[in-house]
Amino acid sequence: MKQIRVIVVGASGRMGRMLVRAVAESRHGLLAGATERPGSEFVGRDAGELAGVETLAVRIVDDINACADADVLIDFTAPAATLKHAAFAAGRGMGMVIGTTGFDAAQMQQLRDTLADSPVIMAANYSVGVNLALSLIERAAQVLGDDYDAEIFEAHHKHKVDAPSGTALAMGKALAAGRGVALDDVAVLSREGITGVRKAGSIGFSVVRGGNIVGEHQAMFIADEERIEIHHNASDRMVFARGAVRAASWLSEQSTGWYDMQDVLGLKA
Ligand code: NAD
Repeated sequence: MKQIRVIVVGASGRMGRMLVRAVAESRHGLLAGATERPGSEFVGRDAGELAGVETLAVRIVDDINACADADVLIDFTAPAATLKHAAFAAGRGMGMVIGTTGFDAAQMQQLRDTLADSPVIMAANYSVGVNLALSLIERAAQVLGDDYDAEIFEAHHKHKVDAPSGTALAMGKALAAGRGVALDDVAVLSREGITGVRKAGSIGFSVVRGGNIVGEHQAMFIADEERIEIHHNASDRMVFARGAVRAASWLSEQSTGWYDMQDVLGLKA
């Protein structure tokens, strides 16, 4: 596999530091640039040292235009920032690996329009295990049908600002796809007060936030006599960073198109 040059935006963030480390530790990756938002105290710092690896001779800048040329931009920041980065990547003909979650429908449309002619991977979760779980959930939903009540649970650290997590929604979509329905038509995103009895065919979500939980997701298929659970527990955020760098290597060999981790891992039929 050829070596790829990578820009990591949001390089001092929780994921940004892991991404810099994952690029440094990868045999195929070379850090070409690292950015932070204007005003960040980390602008000017050495990206490698901040990430806890040796210096990579790349200082964090607050203007992405000051970064050296690269093949792929990896973005785990926030929706508004990702939209700006998308315009930059499209303008430079660069691929984009997007980990940011929490886009609303209008932002999502803008992102798709901006990157219509770019190679893009967007995944709610870059862990290999979670992507395998998504496949298993879709298959389980096909086999079990809606005789089994489907519920999705997720837990994350106290800093997470969106809910349910992008991964929980991806699990909901996989489950709905297995049943041949659209998630939007059957999702119950929260419950409070007199909710009435459970609606047959609905997919319920529940959310926990606290401490430093990296990411826990569970899909439950509940019948009167048995319960099937597909459970994934991430214990270290490096799992997402390594997956994103693997995705960046794969993307550097693709032409224009929107892909996800199922494509990267060859999990699609
Ligand atoms: P964080 O707040 O620790 O990091 C985000 C970083 O982006 C911050 O350092 C912030 O200053 C920086 N940033 C904001 N605007 C910027 C701009 N215009 N230019 C450059 N940098 C900018 O958050 P986090 O925990 O690292 O998560 C970031 C995102 O990644 C969230 O949306 C989260 O849900 C998502 N995430 C996705 C996955 C996945 O596998 N898809 C895994 C973990 C986190």
